Amino acid sequence: MAWKRVERVEGDDPLGQCSWCQKEAAEDQELFGLNATLLDTPLSPPVEKEAYFIELEIPEGSGRLKKIRGMVTGADSPAREEGVDLIIVICSRECGSKLKSNLEKWLSGWIKELSG
Ligand SMILES: [Zn+2]
Repeated sequence: MAWKRVERVEGDDPLGQCSWCQKEAAEDQELFGLNATLLDTPLSPPVEKEAYFIELEIPEGSGRLKKIRGMVTGADSPAREEGVDLIIVICSRECGSKLKSNLEKWLSGWIKELSG
């Protein structure tokens, strides 16, 4: 499954938006993170000193692709120390479980574990 690096665009906060339903979070809304531990394969996004954003495309049915944004954690970050390589922001448990089942289906080649 393909992924590509995305640069952070000003005024566009990938961490302030649900990766599944694409809704912007309200000021006081609590967002959740889906934490992924990745397999060490050539398909996986590489570890770098600084965190960076990537975009994944997963089939959504009827031939369309859904774009999912995630953050690859930095090499020395506390998250990575806990085994979290990729964080994907979601707004609700419902979005989380939909995203989770799709990622498990489409990204099984490089996701070792998915939690949250
Ligand atoms: Zn959502």
